Amino acid sequence: SKFVYDFTEGNKDLKDLLGGKGANLAEMTNLGLPVPPGFTITTEACKVYLDSGQEPAALRAEVTEHLEALEATMGKKLGQADNPLLVSVRSGAKFSMPGMMDTVLNIGLSDASVSGLATQAGDERFAWDSYRRLIQMFGKTVLGVDGDLFEEALEEAKRAKGVRVDVDLDAADLKNLVGQFKDIVAKETGRDFPQEPREQMDLAVRAVFDSWNTDRAKLYRRQERIPGDLGTAVNICSMVFGNLGPDSGTGVAFTRDPASGQQGVYGDYLQNAQGEDVVAGIRNTVPLADLEGIDKPSYDELMQIMETLETHYKDLCDIEFTIERGKLWMLQTRVGKRTAGAAFRIATQLVDQGLIDEAEALQRVNGAQLAQLMFPRFDENAKTQQIGRAIAASPGAAVGKAVFDSYTAVKWSRSGEKVILIRRETNPDDLNGMIAAEGILTSRGGKTSHAAVVARGMGKTCVCGAEELEVDTKRRCLTAPGGIVVEEGDVVSIDGSSGKVYLGEVPVVPSPVVEYFEGRMHAGADDADELVKAVHRIMAYADRVRRLRVRANADNAEDAARARRFGAQGIGLCRTEHMFLGERREMVERLILADTDADREAALGDLLPLQKADFVELFEAMDGLPVTVRLLDPPLHEFLPDITELSVRVALAESRKDANENDLRLLQAVHKLHEQNPMLGLRGVRLGLVIPGLFAMQVRAIAEAAAERKNAAKGDPRAEIMIPLVGTVQELEIVREEAERVIAEVERAHGVDLKLTLGTMIELPRAALTAGQIAESADFFSFGTNDLTQTVWGFSRDDVEASFFTAYLEKGIFGVSPFETIDKDGVGSLVRSAADAGRATRPDLKLGVCGEHGGDPESVHFFHEVGLDYVSCSPFRIPVARLEAGRAAA
Ligand code: ADP
Ligand code: MG
Ligand code: MG
Repeated sequence: SKFVYDFTEGNKDLKDLLGGKGANLAEMTNLGLPVPPGFTITTEACKVYLDSGQEPAALRAEVTEHLEALEATMGKKLGQADNPLLVSVRSGAKFSMPGMMDTVLNIGLSDASVSGLATQAGDERFAWDSYRRLIQMFGKTVLGVDGDLFEEALEEAKRAKGVRVDVDLDAADLKNLVGQFKDIVAKETGRDFPQEPREQMDLAVRAVFDSWNTDRAKLYRRQERIPGDLGTAVNICSMVFGNLGPDSGTGVAFTRDPASGQQGVYGDYLQNAQGEDVVAGIRNTVPLADLEGIDKPSYDELMQIMETLETHYKDLCDIEFTIERGKLWMLQTRVGKRTAGAAFRIATQLVDQGLIDEAEALQRVNGAQLAQLMFPRFDENAKTQQIGRAIAASPGAAVGKAVFDSYTAVKWSRSGEKVILIRRETNPDDLNGMIAAEGILTSRGGKTSHAAVVARGMGKTCVCGAEELEVDTKRRCLTAPGGIVVEEGDVVSIDGSSGKVYLGEVPVVPSPVVEYFEGRMHAGADDADELVKAVHRIMAYADRVRRLRVRANADNAEDAARARRFGAQGIGLCRTEHMFLGERREMVERLILADTDADREAALGDLLPLQKADFVELFEAMDGLPVTVRLLDPPLHEFLPDITELSVRVALAESRKDANENDLRLLQAVHKLHEQNPMLGLRGVRLGLVIPGLFAMQVRAIAEAAAERKNAAKGDPRAEIMIPLVGTVQELEIVREEAERVIAEVERAHGVDLKLTLGTMIELPRAALTAGQIAESADFFSFGTNDLTQTVWGFSRDDVEASFFTAYLEKGIFGVSPFETIDKDGVGSLVRSAADAGRATRPDLKLGVCGEHGGDPESVHFFHEVGLDYVSCSPFRIPVARLEAGRAAA
């Protein structure tokens, strides 16, 4: 096979083989854009090297062949003493990967060719500057010398001369510096800086190959789920020089504003500079628009090229370019990163320009971006005092008083204060404090730190790893650069989307996108926010094409109404347990303590009208749409007083000899119901089978509510009754028999046909494995993927996220918690086979999912692919699910 491709041979679709950078350099070359000639060594060559520890045998000859062709084109030879060709050696994998090796520029320079370069360019200073850059970059990235050693020598040279910036060093200074750099290399590596140009090139190529397997690169890949065996390509590109004086320079540009999506001239330019100088911030850059005044012909050409690239890639592109003595060169382009808001605006703009169609527009945005746009944000117009910047770990805008330990967080929040929990890093002991806080700020740890993982799981604002902020938990204060001290109780504001930390209260404004979904802002209005207009259009595209329906998890009329405004097509999960709390708790106690059938029936009789009233409201809010009501699921002890508290109360009372009879019985019951593993204990359908009359009462409440809506209100209730935690069809059969009897009674009494359906959750492995049998007795399945994940993995969701998940994420065992994104290979494959088996028994079986996964983008795609009918998620997630269902179908 062929291991080397000239830039003229590749194209943008060959990213697997040529890497992103190489494929796009080839694409630009073939578009006739001014790209310095060069060639790309393929990822295949890298793979052979990584597998065998040796470059493929044919590689050297192929490289020689392409190098000779390049030399012929350029009319000079690599490193030739009197007229040297210089090249850059640039890494470039299929996916851009921070933490991989940097590019080495000016390969081919040596003690011999440096004067040739000086003559060629007529510029002595430039030649020595290029040489010192080569030794510095090569020393650091290829030979592994500590880069600080070079930086220090450079700083010292500037100091000695009394100048501030590198351009003020002259040829003699730089020549001197080259000598020092060579000494550093010799001292640190035990060998001289290689003078032979081809050896320089080969060593650099090998270093790029090796960089694929650095620890940082491996970790990054595991976390981003990039396969470890792709390898990287290497680009050899003839050098052009931006450091040849004021008529030269280097810059970066975007074809539109990556922050707003607006078309215009965005970028930075730096005169007399090379390579990374622009982004390294060594001197102040000028805005790209200023290039027009500096070099009009190059500027005009660049604008022309930017238009060509946008039309060609049909998307926002970012660009790296260099001007050498008035001649423009393109060094890189790719489809550029953008903010969430810009993604939506650009997608609709491109549709309007006729560059892409609606289906493609849907692929240009995603649910994570939409979710980001739905968080409240800080008022952009507010005056703020920023005191630091952290890693944006979990979005949102949080304001509160600084507290430095979890105990204080809980105490203050109980007394009604809003607090921000500030820690160096968090650990499982901080959980209560994190729950109590508005937001979390840490000075250590990255996106997978404990704080970040747990906060994201809770949907709580979090910024982490603010290294410039010094947290002193003993003295209860935080010190920011400039000596600003934040004491306990001082108000701080943190922005989980940007990572910025402010002193004082920054006013928060609701997201315009939420205002729009809530119906308080209309996309059609003339003055409507551009972003809202774009979101409105994209949502319309998604709704038009999606096959999956989207329902809400909602337990009360208020949530149901909001869900409906957000586009819910029904309720996929109404939990009934909250209907047993508050003042009704006492009735539940009576139910549990009942000694006789009569006592029990009386307690149930009291609960019935209350439950019924809840359902009437819910059916009204969702009139005409399906409402799946799940019968009682959690273990009963959750409705009883805490065992310790009650024991203490009883013990105290006994010591005073006035123990209350009821408390004693309650305590007995609590002891009796106490379980080591409540999650695997007496709950769900098991309760219904053990407590006579409980499920019958709930079914009656549902049926009577439906009858009332139908008769009295002429409504259209569409209730579906769902049985939780079924493991075998026999359980379901017994419950169904009783439910059907109750429903028939209600129907007779009210003279209506309620068309109630009865189905089950599939949330135990055994249910999934016997889904074919269970379907005999079920009108629908709803996959409870939270419990299914717990039971398939043997993870307790309430415990593991805060304990060992951080370690698992750091080690790359999974890139994301299986409670967040469905584990396709394990849990997902059970869902798939259960869905197939269920439909084999009963082709019209309705299939849905009601775990947290129902609102997770990646999971939604999976459920679409498996062929479910709907996903159900929390009201706030509904727009995300609609969008992703559309993207999955488009
Ligand atoms: P990265 O992937 O880090 O962006 P690049 O390979 O794009 O690394 O190189 C970084 C910078 O080095 C480029 O933006 C460009 O300014 C400069 N550079 C790379 N190759 C050349 C070249 N052949 N001539 C001039 N400058 C180059
Ligand atoms: Mg680059
Ligand atoms: Mg469950």
